[in-house]
Order: sequence, then C-alpha cells, then structure tokens
Amino acid sequence: MKPARFAYERPGDLAGLLARMATAEGSVKLMAGGQSLGPMLNLRLVEPDLVLDITGIPELRRAAIEGDTLVLGALVTHADIEDGRVPDLTGGAMARVAAAIAYRPVRNRGTIGGSLVHADPAADWVTALIALGAEVELASASGRRRLALEAFVTGALDVALAPGEMLVAVRIPALPSGTAWGYVKHCSKIGEFAHAIGAVRIEPGAARARLVIGAIERAPLVVAEARDLFGGRIGPDFAERFDARAAEAFLRDAGMSDPVARHVHVTVLARAVAQAASAPPSRTRTVSEAA
Ligand SMILES: Cc1cc2nc3c(=O)[nH]c(=O)nc-3n(C[C@H](O)[C@H](O)[C@H](O)COP(=O)(O)OP(=O)(O)OC[C@H]3O[C@@H](n4cnc5c(N)ncnc54)[C@H](O)[C@@H]3O)c2cc1C
Repeated sequence: MKPARFAYERPGDLAGLLARMATAEGSVKLMAGGQSLGPMLNLRLVEPDLVLDITGIPELRRAAIEGDTLVLGALVTHADIEDGRVPDLTGGAMARVAAAIAYRPVRNRGTIGGSLVHADPAADWVTALIALGAEVELASASGRRRLALEAFVTGALDVALAPGEMLVAVRIPALPSGTAWGYVKHCSKIGEFAHAIGAVRIEPGAARARLVIGAIERAPLVVAEARDLFGGRIGPDFAERFDARAAEAFLRDAGMSDPVARHVHVTVLARAVAQAASAPPSRTRTVSEAA
C-alpha cells in the first residue's frame, strides 16, 4: 500500500518548527527516522495532512552532560548510543540496551525521541529509561516543560504530548557508583521486539531499587514497593533474597490475569536481578571526567 497524499516540509531550526506546528491547519505528524512512521503511513494507519521532517534541526542531535545528567537530543540514534558517539553516565548500560534493538539498519535511523513518542509497549527505551529514572523535555511555541518518563508514557502507543508539542530531549541521571543494573529482553528471535522485559537498577548501599516490567499491553509497570520483592530488605545479597512469588503476586494485583504471561514476566525479571548481581557494579565516570 502507499500513503495517502500529504504535504512535506523540512524546517531547519527548532523555533521555525515549533511555529509551524502552532499554525498548521489539519493534522500534523513529525518524522524522525521514519522507522515507525513510514510503515504507519504506508498502511494508512495515519493520514496526516502535513509531515514535518525534523532531521534538519541540529539542536535535536545535541548530546551533552549537564551536572550529573546526560541530555540526549531527540534525534540521537540507537547506533549513536551503541557506538559511543554520545557521552554516557550509565557505565555502558545504555549502549548494551541500544545494541539489542532490532537490526543495525533500524538502529542507524531509529531515534531515542521517536521511540519514546511512539511508545510501543515492547520498545526497549520505554522500559529501560523508566528504570534509569529518565525525564523527557517537551517544547511547543509557548514554552518548555519536563516530565518523568513514567508519567509521559500513559499507555500503549499513548503519551502525554499536548497539541503543538514535541519531545526535544531526554534527560538521564547518572547511575550512582556501586549501582547494580540488569536488563533482560525476551524475544523469540534476535532483533525482534520483546515479549517480556525486566529492567532493574539496584543500589544495595542505599537499600534502594527500581524494578520495571515492560512489554506488557500497556505502559511498563514500576514496582512501587521494591523491598517487598526482596523479603523486606535490599542489601548486597539482593539476588538470593529475590522473591519470585512476591513478584508474581505483584503482577496479579496489577491486573495480569494470564498465569503463563505472569510466569514469563517473573522469569525475565528474575534473570535481570541475577544479571545485576553478576555484573560488576557500575563505576560511572565522575562528571568532571565525562565533561
Ligand atoms: C523491523 C523493526 C524492528 C524494530 N525492533 C525494535 C526493537 O526490538 N526494540 C525497539 O525498541 N524498537 C524497535 N523498533 C523501533 C525502532 O527502534 C524505532 O525507534 C522506532 O520505530 C521509532 O522510529 P523513529 O525514531 O524513526 O521515529 P519515527 O518513525 O520517525 O516516528 C515515530 C513516531 O514518533 C513521532 N515522533 C518522532 N520524533 C518525535 C519527536 N521528537 N517529538 C514528537 N513526536 C515525534 C512521529 O510523529 C511518529 O508518530 C523496530 C523497528 C523496525 C522497523
């Protein structure tokens, strides 16, 4: 199938793009790498009047460290992260996530911003960056705002973008030194979207953990009381203390009614916890080293 007719423009700066978005009549779609938008246009799942190609805007490719936060422009590609062309404050955790997304041609064009706005529940960045505690920076002609990623992703293929608003950057806090990180993606073939994702960020020294279960039919689930999944205490022995039954109960209470799905997700989460325990704790660069 071919797309329905649409007008196409490629603004060269962010102010011009935002102004155009504010004044355009009819439906507008932004195009980043086109990896999801292209198929959606071809299948006529979307029929915008105007496509605004954002790839000519240098500001959206910017990657920088601000204090203890990594700021990646919306157009940073998965391959940029995989290849280390942008700075890192996660001790290589993001590069490993990027390398497992799809195939190299998709990673060359697919962007971090497009992935988050598309919000496929099985997408890697949606779950991984929620576990890393990322924020998104949104802009429109009337200003900018920041939102925690878990508040931005409101459901499957659904995000909290207002009309005329776009994602300009993703802000990822540094992983504190000594943090254990595990990310496991279960899929039947390498390069495919996941059937289950477990992402864990565990700080045994601070007795804190962030556990996220992704590739479910809605926004990823963040375990609010992570301690409950470790017998009430998070310490250096967290892997031995991981309680699969408590994880299963958490998923049941969250509305996952299919026992097979629960089993798969708990198994993947347990593997992520085991991976976190076996990998050396992160020794992220200090800000001065990275700057
Ligand atoms: C064969 C294949 C396999 C894939 N496998 C995986 C996988 O295993 N894991 C995974 O995570 N992903 C996977 N993907 C998705 C891919 O990684 C891309 O990240 C995703 O398709 C988004 O593509 P894009 O960046 O080119 O955005 P586009 O396709 O250009 O845009 C996607 C959507 O986001 C909107 N948009 C884009 N940028 C912005 C912005 N800055 N602000 C506001 N709206 C914006 C567009 O209007 C559109 O609605 C796969 C894709 C393909 C084609």
